[in-house]
Amino acid sequence: MSEWWSVVETARRIADGEVTAFRVVEDMLVRITRVDRDLGAYLEIDGDGARTAANEIDRKRKAGEKLGPLAGVPIALKDNLVTKGIVTTAGSKILAGWVPPYEGTAVEKLRAAGAVILGKTNLDEFGMGSSTERSAFKKTKNPWDSSRVPGGSSGGSAAAVAAGLCAASLGTDTGGSIRQPAAFSGVVGIKPTYGRVSRWGVVAFASSLDQVGPLARTVGDAALILQTICGHDPRDATSLDVPVPDFSAALAAGARGLRVGLPKEYFAGELEEHVRAALDRTIAALRDQGAEIVEVSLPHTHLALPAYYIVAPAEASSNLARYDGIRYGLRVEAPDLLTQYSKTRGAGFGPEVKRRIMLGTYALRSGYYDAYYKKAQQIRTLIKRDFDAAFESCDVLLTPTTPTTAFRFGAKATPLDMYLADVFTLSCNLAGLPGMSVPCGLTPEGLPVGAQLLGKPLDEVTLLRAGAAIEAAVGLGDRRPGGFA
Ligand code: GLN
Repeated sequence: MSEWWSVVETARRIADGEVTAFRVVEDMLVRITRVDRDLGAYLEIDGDGARTAANEIDRKRKAGEKLGPLAGVPIALKDNLVTKGIVTTAGSKILAGWVPPYEGTAVEKLRAAGAVILGKTNLDEFGMGSSTERSAFKKTKNPWDSSRVPGGSSGGSAAAVAAGLCAASLGTDTGGSIRQPAAFSGVVGIKPTYGRVSRWGVVAFASSLDQVGPLARTVGDAALILQTICGHDPRDATSLDVPVPDFSAALAAGARGLRVGLPKEYFAGELEEHVRAALDRTIAALRDQGAEIVEVSLPHTHLALPAYYIVAPAEASSNLARYDGIRYGLRVEAPDLLTQYSKTRGAGFGPEVKRRIMLGTYALRSGYYDAYYKKAQQIRTLIKRDFDAAFESCDVLLTPTTPTTAFRFGAKATPLDMYLADVFTLSCNLAGLPGMSVPCGLTPEGLPVGAQLLGKPLDEVTLLRAGAAIEAAVGLGDRRPGGFA
């Protein structure tokens, strides 16, 4: 029963003594054992750690000690979030078996709020992918249709939430990796403003784009998790020292008077018929609730994908230089150091990661820096200015999160086909804005569709307000995936 409770409900029932944290965690672990063999959402389950944490919550409650807002709530973490004492692989063989000696800030904050960490979820290697098929370890299925991918790279985190294998989870989003799997798996996902959540203890992919955020079954749950993980952290030089608003207070405001911008470039191209229909219903529902719908233009949208695939691989090639077979995980012994480096990296990285390292290294070569990296950074500025201009006539932007619903395993034959799965989510990261995906209905085939909301910098409050309005009007309600019930 408790497996499907929301974060808010779980915390309340435990705080009220209706159920123990231990019972909630134990039931969840039983369910994971039953369901996840087939679903494949988790890479690592920390049953002992979860039971110990739950017992501690129960002890505190009995002793009358103050409980945190997430006391006893079972949470899953994408496996590129560093967890002290729990293996962290980032979905890569090069980190297989690595047990971090420290805890990432977002994880630390969750634990401090009383959350119980269940384990680590599957992802595309180092977050490079859109389907979780690029994990070095296993496939994760989409709970709504097991012949399809859950999206990626936070596919394990999305599938675990959708299938009731945790109350909520954390993912990371560099170019769409929270929002796209949220859309494919029928859950809520938020990529906060760049700098809102500390990147300390996040396995770095592209440091100017990476952000941690929540995946949850309701907008209210996502708001509560977001509240917990935000805030300034001196250990991350890009962390913003700004006040964190009360996110949950934003939820009830409704859509009346909200100016919702529809960027025409996101509705012009090839949109799957049922995605378009779901968005049309969403727009109509917002209008009915008193929102003002305005058309806007983001004229440099077509440059987001090429710019992203310079910036992200360039930063990745530099960040991934640290995997040298000396400091972390895998080491392939060789008679000399250079051979050891190349053998370790040759054996440890998968093909997509190698492709990114080569693309990035090429783009950063001396003499080519201006032609590629610098130009891509200039495009970032143009994209940012497009958003600034659009936000003069609206409060929030609404787009489809993805051009299609979840695709089948193996459907994306070329790297470019896969890259195109994120065509609507990349601009948000390039501009550093907050973005969110909210379920906005199912197709006749029973596949979820996601509506994407993009906000002004630091305006997560308006995203949550609009997201709650969409959820109330066209959300999934109590509909759950049938396959893994
Ligand atoms: N799919 C995009 C990529 O492969 C984005 C991934 C992400 O956000 N981590 O780079």
